[in-house]
Amino acid sequence: ARLANQIAAGEVVERPSSVVKELVENSLDSAATSIEIEIEKGGHKRILIRDNGSGIASDELALALSRHATSKITCLDDLEAIHSLGFRGEALASISSVARLTLTSKPEKQQQAWQAHCEGRDMQVQVNPVAHPAGTSVDVADLFFNTPARRKFLKTEKTEFAHIDEVVRRIALSRFDVSFSLKHNGKVVRKYPAISASGNKIKRLTAICGKGFTDACLEINSQYQKFELHGWMLPPTELASGHEFQYVYVNGRMMRDKLINHAIRQAFEGIDNAEFRPGYVLYLSIEHDQVDVNVHPAKHEVRFHQARLVHDFIFRALSDVLKQYLQ
Ligand code: ADP
Ligand code: MG
Repeated sequence: ARLANQIAAGEVVERPSSVVKELVENSLDSAATSIEIEIEKGGHKRILIRDNGSGIASDELALALSRHATSKITCLDDLEAIHSLGFRGEALASISSVARLTLTSKPEKQQQAWQAHCEGRDMQVQVNPVAHPAGTSVDVADLFFNTPARRKFLKTEKTEFAHIDEVVRRIALSRFDVSFSLKHNGKVVRKYPAISASGNKIKRLTAICGKGFTDACLEINSQYQKFELHGWMLPPTELASGHEFQYVYVNGRMMRDKLINHAIRQAFEGIDNAEFRPGYVLYLSIEHDQVDVNVHPAKHEVRFHQARLVHDFIFRALSDVLKQYLQ
């Protein structure tokens, strides 16, 4: 079983940033409102995620580390309407098969926190009582210590940290209501305080995409039938910076989808500025039963049941705002 985990780990755990992504998504799924991320040496040495979420009961700690153990789907029907970010029950098992993983957790109502440790092929999961506030900490040390071939493919500390920074940016743009902090080698490098539902989202947008982006961006607010599109995009002015930010979220999940990208490209088509690359942060909401996210393990692709409608809706929403701007 451990070997199968190591093979599957290749799909989920490509580099330190993929570990960060999986762990932070778990924290979000546990309804955490505050997530702290601590990285040592670009994640080569250590990745520590702390949250204040619902926690894991002591008798479920070992189970959480085993393969295909997910608490998020209880029957096949649930697959049709996934509201959580994770659902395969693979991340913790895969990560622990290629690192030294310590999982510490305390549900609010449990008296005592418990800790499970699991190391590479060593199947023994030990569970001990420890001191820890309500919530969960996952400590991942020495990534790929037992798979030297994979370890060799890790890039420099700086490059791996840049990937982590990017993953945190993407996630932070998906949940303005959650506070995130990111430390590297003991220093706080990012702080994204939570913004309430009525609060001004521009603050976080600026912290992530820069003032060049927020000063120039156009706001999108569009609705058609049961589709909604919100967000921001850069107009095709030469001065605008921030073109590298091209983020699309579908029901809160970051996506790289061909259909959506095509609609966006089409909206910008014919704009007389060869230098211009559109920058955008867009949020598409759509009924859960209208979209299938269970397409690809990396979960970056979606399948829409009414693809044409979704495409044309996005195209129209963006080109309307652009037309107004260009008038
Ligand atoms: P999945 O997210 O697909 O369910 P994972 O391997 O990522 O699978 O996690 C396994 C299980 O461990 C989850 O279903 C959840 O019950 C529990 N879990 C993991 N991380 C956390 C966390 N930060 N807080 C609460 N529960 C967690
Ligand atoms: Mg998960």
